Amino acid sequence: MKSSSRRFSEFFIPTLKEVPAEAEIISHQVMLRTGMIRKLAAGIYSYLPYGLMALKKVEDIVREEMNRAGAIELLLPSVQPGELWMESGRWNYYGPELLRFRDRHNRESCLGPTHEEVITDIVRREIHSYKQLPITLYQIQTKFRDEIRPRFGIMRAREFIMKDAYSFDIDEQGCNRSYENMYRAYEAIFRRCGLRFRAVEADTGPIGGSFSHEFMVLSDTGEDEIVSCQRCSYASNLEKAEVVEQGEKSSVSEEERVFQVVDTPEVRTIEELTSFLSIGPENVVKTLIYQTESEPIALLVRGDHSLNETKAKNALNAEELTMADPDTVLEVTGAPMGFAGAMGLKVKVLADLSLKGMKNMVMGANEEDRHVLNVNEGRDFRVDQYADLRMITPEDPCPRCGGSLQFGKGIEVGHVFKLGAKYSNALKANFLNEHGHETPVIMGCYGIGIGRTVAAAIEQCHDENGIIFPISISPFEVIILPLELHESRVREVADQLYGQLSDNGLSVFLDDRDERPGYKFKDADLLGTPVRITVSTRTLRKESVEIKLRSSPELNLIPLLEAATVIRKTVQSLYDSLK
Ligand code: ATP
Ligand code: MG
Repeated sequence: MKSSSRRFSEFFIPTLKEVPAEAEIISHQVMLRTGMIRKLAAGIYSYLPYGLMALKKVEDIVREEMNRAGAIELLLPSVQPGELWMESGRWNYYGPELLRFRDRHNRESCLGPTHEEVITDIVRREIHSYKQLPITLYQIQTKFRDEIRPRFGIMRAREFIMKDAYSFDIDEQGCNRSYENMYRAYEAIFRRCGLRFRAVEADTGPIGGSFSHEFMVLSDTGEDEIVSCQRCSYASNLEKAEVVEQGEKSSVSEEERVFQVVDTPEVRTIEELTSFLSIGPENVVKTLIYQTESEPIALLVRGDHSLNETKAKNALNAEELTMADPDTVLEVTGAPMGFAGAMGLKVKVLADLSLKGMKNMVMGANEEDRHVLNVNEGRDFRVDQYADLRMITPEDPCPRCGGSLQFGKGIEVGHVFKLGAKYSNALKANFLNEHGHETPVIMGCYGIGIGRTVAAAIEQCHDENGIIFPISISPFEVIILPLELHESRVREVADQLYGQLSDNGLSVFLDDRDERPGYKFKDADLLGTPVRITVSTRTLRKESVEIKLRSSPELNLIPLLEAATVIRKTVQSLYDSLK
């Protein structure tokens, strides 16, 4: 008998009847209610048997697809020496998410939030020739990130299980092939997990290049905002989405009018300003004072737009970008916050592309309670650089095909990233190429959150009664409910079917508890097993059992003699639908 089949009475599923107050989202609620997980401390969870089974299912799929793609599994330590992080330069850069401590010999150490350093250290020691490349190595392992706001259960935990893979190639083209290969493996993984997902272009931050995609499970409770084109295949993380400015704006061809300072008492917000002056927000320029690691900066966007800090950071090539404090604003503009304008500023001024050529705008006067009308670039203020600085809006066209865009939310379950020579340069992971020259290996890295994938699947597949597991990641494929346990025939048939299906290789859960039918049906719905078989005196009167899919209200009787065959075929067809 397959060992994954279980009897409820001999298993450990501590279910809860009440919805736990601390859980805000469905997946967190039902994972607690079904006894999949229990919290030990903030962002730190125990995986109880039912939860662990689901995690293992995802792990198995990930492992199969990684192996199929040619990646090779290893296992790296979770405790890492600080030295290695100092060598890569991330010891100071990573911030408080990196949990640091000293060992008994006073050596700096940390709990691994990710493993670029450790894997690059292995490669620099063991790989010396182009003949050993390309290679992709992966592990499925516990990570620790001291997240500032752990929440949603294992969706955003501090300790969590991740599959992380790293590719090593002799050059860019090789790296592109490895990246493609992982990208395709990720598509196969998430399809097999039964998820509705989209791969979206993602920001690559200071590493640059366009080679980063996040795999997003589409869900309203997602923390990431994504845009996708309704016509072509373009999809992007909101913060990365490029804005293409469309054609001429009416005010571009206007005559320049006379500059005018007006009193605007008690007016601070854009709404207050537009209603006070009876103008539209598109006629206002917002002057935002920010601070990079080296200097204060002024960023200009239109009143009806919002600044995209990631784009601004990239345009400035800055490591850090934060809003300036009131003192800096006063120093830069000569006025308290809320009245900044671009006139006469000594700092660098960057403006969004939508402002190019705009005439007779309104902005802060750099004086308390005053604004200026009819401001024009060149005549009244200077712009050092125009760039795409703003968040995309639903009115903007698709940057690829001009089609209309759809906005939605997603849960990031996977991330593929081209690293280039960032770590190989820092850690001197070089190899001898065909011509005998020492060259840095070109790297890619690829993560999947195992626990987050389970949580995201539940977030996407549930109803008011509980989980509706995709069969591929469900702890059990079939649940058998014998309804009247005091009837020996009911018990016998249920036991027999349990044995037969298990011998056939199915994973079966037999609810052999002496409980009321309503209670058992409720728990079966909560647990979300895809195929439910009910055995009762009523079904046996017709020499049948009842079959129901968790995903459909339809009930059918199947003759006892055919039961095992029909159930096996039903299970198979559920798997086939995920191909
Ligand atoms: P996020 O933006 O959600 O914080 P990240 O960009 O920091 O994630 P990566 O470093 O790309 O995440 O990690 C790879 C994968 O690990 C993510 O796609 C996600 O599935 C998972 N993951 C990251 N952080 C957590 C966490 N705190 N809890 C659970 N899973 C996580
Ligand atoms: Mg990411």
